[in-house]
Amino acid sequence: MKIKESLLNNLALPLILAILIPMASALGSLLATGEWITWINFIPWFVWIIFLIIIVIWTIGILVNKRLKRIRNNRPSIAAVPRVYERYEIGEVSHAGVIWKVYVNYTDPFDSFETTSIKNFDTDSIPRCPECKTELEEQKSFWRGYVWSCPRCGFKKKNKDSRLIESERAAKIARRDIEKKRKKE
Ligand SMILES: [Zn+2]
Repeated sequence: MKIKESLLNNLALPLILAILIPMASALGSLLATGEWITWINFIPWFVWIIFLIIIVIWTIGILVNKRLKRIRNNRPSIAAVPRVYERYEIGEVSHAGVIWKVYVNYTDPFDSFETTSIKNFDTDSIPRCPECKTELEEQKSFWRGYVWSCPRCGFKKKNKDSRLIESERAAKIARRDIEKKRKKE
């Protein structure tokens, strides 16, 4: 298990072998026969090709393994939830090509839309489909970024940042819209 782990984690290993094996055979040949090329000529060409293929596949295996590990470890952390008296849905905002529901969180019974702090407005962290308003599912894409997909209509959207980061941005946009509405700008 330990050996398998280090074989799949250490990018230097295939690189060292790719350099060391031809060098060692050239050096061995030079010491044994006086000609550095004799042993290399003695080994059939396809053996070198197979050796090269193994090194390439091994390197790709390490890269894929590293990538999979990063995806598995990249779980979102749970954000702290503020104390809320009542939470109402008040509308929606378009951002990053999807829909975000906007909420107001009243922190006491006398709070109202006009008087509550602008900080008390936020958005749902789950984006909605722009076609059918269904909650979108998020998956980490293999190389970079995220894919949001609609379980109802098949809508798909690639996005660089996760829904948690984008929902914060959507909330900022929504807060500014509400600010303007309240001040009648
Ligand atoms: Zn949809």
